[in-house]
Amino acid sequence: MVQGVGFRPFVYRLAHEHNLRGWVRNTSGNVEIEVEGDEETFENFLADLEAKAPPMAHIERIEATFYPLKGYTEFKICQSLSREGKYQLVSPDIATCEDCKREIFYPTDRRFGYPFTNCTNCGPRFTIIEDIPYDRPNTTMRKFQMCPECQQEYDDPLNRRFHAQPNACPKCGPSLEPVDGNGSPIDCNDAIKTASGLLKAGKILAIRGLGGFHLACDATNEKAINLVRTRKRRLFKPLAVMVGTLEDIEKHCLVSPEERRLLQSPQCPIVLLRWKHNSSNISPAVAPNLNYLGVMLPYTPLHHLLLRETGIPLVMTSGNLSEEPIAKDNGEAVIRLRGIADYFLFHNRDIFARYDDSVYMVEGMPQAIRRARGYAPYPVFLPFKSKQILACGAELKNTFCLTKDEHAFLSQHIGDMENEETLEHFENTIELYKKLFRIEPEIVAYDMHPEYLSTKYALNSGSEQGLSLIPIQHHHAHIVSCLVENKVEEPVIGVAFDGTGYGTDGTIWGGEFLLADWRSFQRVGHLEYVPLLGGVAAIKKPYRMALSYLYTLLGEDFLLEGLPLSKVNPAELELIKQQLKRRINSPLTSSAGRLFDAISALVGVREEIDYEAQAAIEMEMLAANEVEEPELKAYPFSIVEHQGVRVVKLGELFSTVVQDVKNQVPIPIISLKFHNTVAEIITRMCKLIAKETGINQVALSGGVFQNRLLLKLATSALDREGFSVLTHHLVPCNDGGISLGQAVIAHFASISQEA
Ligand SMILES: [Zn+2]
Ligand SMILES: [Zn+2]
Ligand SMILES: [Zn+2]
Repeated sequence: MVQGVGFRPFVYRLAHEHNLRGWVRNTSGNVEIEVEGDEETFENFLADLEAKAPPMAHIERIEATFYPLKGYTEFKICQSLSREGKYQLVSPDIATCEDCKREIFYPTDRRFGYPFTNCTNCGPRFTIIEDIPYDRPNTTMRKFQMCPECQQEYDDPLNRRFHAQPNACPKCGPSLEPVDGNGSPIDCNDAIKTASGLLKAGKILAIRGLGGFHLACDATNEKAINLVRTRKRRLFKPLAVMVGTLEDIEKHCLVSPEERRLLQSPQCPIVLLRWKHNSSNISPAVAPNLNYLGVMLPYTPLHHLLLRETGIPLVMTSGNLSEEPIAKDNGEAVIRLRGIADYFLFHNRDIFARYDDSVYMVEGMPQAIRRARGYAPYPVFLPFKSKQILACGAELKNTFCLTKDEHAFLSQHIGDMENEETLEHFENTIELYKKLFRIEPEIVAYDMHPEYLSTKYALNSGSEQGLSLIPIQHHHAHIVSCLVENKVEEPVIGVAFDGTGYGTDGTIWGGEFLLADWRSFQRVGHLEYVPLLGGVAAIKKPYRMALSYLYTLLGEDFLLEGLPLSKVNPAELELIKQQLKRRINSPLTSSAGRLFDAISALVGVREEIDYEAQAAIEMEMLAANEVEEPELKAYPFSIVEHQGVRVVKLGELFSTVVQDVKNQVPIPIISLKFHNTVAEIITRMCKLIAKETGINQVALSGGVFQNRLLLKLATSALDREGFSVLTHHLVPCNDGGISLGQAVIAHFASISQEA
């Protein structure tokens, strides 16, 4: 990755330092350098090229050849060159660097207070690029003609803004425009002051940023937050907060050294931090019932200026309605966010690619929860040369993956593929990646679930173009995504725990034990099946899951007296019993996510949910609250074997939890014991499978492993038993990582088909 990261000026300076003559140029495939000088100097130059490269540069390979002398008299930077079919990596957007930050706050600097300040070390990249090579005419900055001063910086190889494609200043560059809720301009001298005043007055602003609009409001103002929630139709889902400085973050949250590093990295993601409820004045309404707060530092000059001017932490949540993609254009935002935002803060630097904020958590090591800004489209490197494949991902938290050579271009977070807008975003982004990286897929990989929009897209577009179509089992893809990022090729015991994934037998899997590698898998165990009452409806209503478990495992005469579930109205209860008896719209499921839901509803933590996994998350929060050093007690369960497949029977677990609830054992204790039980299920199953197969490497994948308590308990238990445990870091363990696994499995499936 040598474009948009200040690589050519670096080469220019290096050549001058070493007194070499010649030239450097970008092509669509690489950077080319020709130098003349004596051999020893040349060797030193080569060594420095690799050792001293700019921080955001990534050199895959240097190839050197000798040519006859041409007698160059100077070293210069030549015009970029486009080469047919060649491509190179594109830099993600980079958070504002310290130098630029200093300038915007330095009163006599010509960029004082300028919200679009950037340089070769920071600023927009991927969100403004339309094609490679990365030069201004190929970006949305082409409409701004640089003023003489900016042009001079741009042309001066010794300047920090030499060939900084988005280079701009207040005289010649993009500008802000505050407008009212209908998009009509409002009269003001200073957009930042006006916007800050509105935020401090409790208004909701839609602010156009790097990759789209944020909805912003005062994070200490409960009324404003609740207004965002009602208008956005998101009553509970945690909202991210932007805080001005690291010192301020530490007033609200505990920050470990690793978390500090992530927060301040050039990627500047949202990091889920332990929230100090007692000393933080951020309203609990920002993340109801949670112990963690999603926090980020300002990452554009606009954000720095706003945070400094308001002096308060700001809610910064994606500018969208529920699960639609983030709005990016001014006109689009007014249409889609009308009635949600009181005011808009527009700017006129167009966004070519939608780009959400990335989210990380640190549990031992950093782990991506959502991979977007700052990370995509930087590829995951494959330990082999891949065919050109499009893998379409799953449904929720969709990403796709395009592969070529040893690059797996995992897209930025696309969103939940549940509406036309997201599908369109998905299609457009696929086209952008195909163009940027010159990829013409010959194979399309997709999830086996027939109803996923990504599956339908794969089947339609793939057959239209005559590509070979390869369906991939959901949990196999989870495990392989974990294997690939860990570069492990040999078979492992894959533990895939998630909400929903279509099984090869047509049931809904989700508590799976697989023997798996890049090529194939065998299902060697799973959680006991229960009916998913009313199909997808059961996901939104965990109490239905609880009833399904109770009636299926403990008998249809099971009595709800003394349980929070006895609140369910008798008519609905009768309906549920009928549904269970006749198995109407009730596919079987072995989902671990649903098991967590059921226990959460059974103990009375949450009966209905507003966002994915809410019931499980709130239960985890209670357990984690209660005990720092969990004692390892578990509920009983048993394992039976049927035709080589082990099934975890959960009847005793449920009857014991029921007893505990009736005996009024505190919920945090039940919750902790339940988490221990799931860790114990994982360990016991892995031991049985290991004994049979001799495999002692375990890969943990699936959205359930975003549960920190479970992850910690499971990895340490497996560790104690001598297993080596693989977990996710680069790509999410949730369905956002699936497409990477799909692509790799499809590659090997296609090779074996040929053989
Ligand atoms: Zn900078
Ligand atoms: Zn200028
Ligand atoms: Zn999944």
